[in-house]
Amino acid sequence: MRHVDEMMLDGNAAAGDMSQGFSVDITSVVSTCAHCGSTGPLGGAHLFIGAGSVLRCTVCDCVLLRFVTAPGRMFIELTGIRVLEIPTA
Ligand SMILES: [Zn+2]
Repeated sequence: MRHVDEMMLDGNAAAGDMSQGFSVDITSVVSTCAHCGSTGPLGGAHLFIGAGSVLRCTVCDCVLLRFVTAPGRMFIELTGIRVLEIPTA
């Protein structure tokens, strides 16, 4: 049995695989609502724009994600999404 430390890498080791998931058309990404479990493409979610942007579930109206942009960066909060299904090449 391998020791846990032998299986642990730092987050940099995930960069290659994760970059595939963050370089796609976000509207085609399918999300699973953490509240009601419904699934659908983010492009079909309801968008509300105020101090930031909020995408809401079309079934239960709960918040899926929030994002705000600032000079040179973006902040994304994803607690309303249980799973993101991201198409890869
Ligand atoms: Zn929902």
